[in-house]
Amino acid sequence: HPAPRYRGRFAPSPTGDLHLGSLLAAVASYLEARVRGGEWLLRIEDLDPPRVMAGAAQRIMAALEHYGFEWDGEVVWQSARLDRYEAALARLIEAGAVYPCTCSRKEVAAIAHAGVEGPVYPGTCRAGMAKGRPLRAWRVRVDNEPIVYHDAVQGACSQRLQSDVGDFVVRRGDGLFAYQLAVVVDDAEQGINAVVRGADLLDSTPRQIHLQRLLGYPQPSYAHVPVLVNERGEKLSKQTLAAPLDRQRPGESLCRVLGLLGQAPPAELARGGLTECWNWAFAHWRMQSVPPQRHIEC
Ligand code: GLU
Ligand code: ZN
Repeated sequence: HPAPRYRGRFAPSPTGDLHLGSLLAAVASYLEARVRGGEWLLRIEDLDPPRVMAGAAQRIMAALEHYGFEWDGEVVWQSARLDRYEAALARLIEAGAVYPCTCSRKEVAAIAHAGVEGPVYPGTCRAGMAKGRPLRAWRVRVDNEPIVYHDAVQGACSQRLQSDVGDFVVRRGDGLFAYQLAVVVDDAEQGINAVVRGADLLDSTPRQIHLQRLLGYPQPSYAHVPVLVNERGEKLSKQTLAAPLDRQRPGESLCRVLGLLGQAPPAELARGGLTECWNWAFAHWRMQSVPPQRHIEC
């Protein structure tokens, strides 16, 4: 059989405008897809209504177009796919892989030790839900076998879900589906076989691999590119007042991003046009040159 065609994606959350940090993740995933003769899909992760900023999705798409990105197929909106997440959760319930939890955030914080991302849920409701208490979440059971995978940028990765994360939430009590579940369902149903994204999601990857195994989905390849942080070590975002992208000189920002991605574009390229920058990038892109760091200060 011939190898299946490479299919990557960019999956921004419309919680703010595109900035240099999100542009960097878009550029890396786009170049890898194009250089491999693959497809590149766009998915808007508007799963969490209170965090969605009005008009941000449209502005992100307009900014991507302004930069010359061309995505394949229709844009997928997570807010239109709740029935798919519901169906996946039903399968997990059927398999006994998830259980209802009545613990409040406060209760968990009071007894849990710190994991890679907040408190590690100690499994209080594993054996059954306490009577007369409200449902706070659906949690997926994990074990302590290390989940080992290779990342094209970060190298060998391993995490033990039980000690590093704990049984994690796939649906909240208020009905909101967790990012971890939605991303796994969407990547599988869209046939994504290569994930290139920011290293802020490196610690989420083992949870996603765990869900892929439970749901019988294939595991995509992973490449986690460095996240841009300010001098205080904070991820660039609307909240940390990331400078808006300069719409007048997109070639300059593109060159800057290529430099941060370790591609060493020639100095004069920034003074050329956007098309010149892309052509240089298509001819020279190498994922192996991306620095194997989680963060880059800029
Ligand atoms: N929506 C996520 C974000 O903007 C990215 C999800 C992913 O690439 O898996 O941080
Ligand atoms: Zn609980």
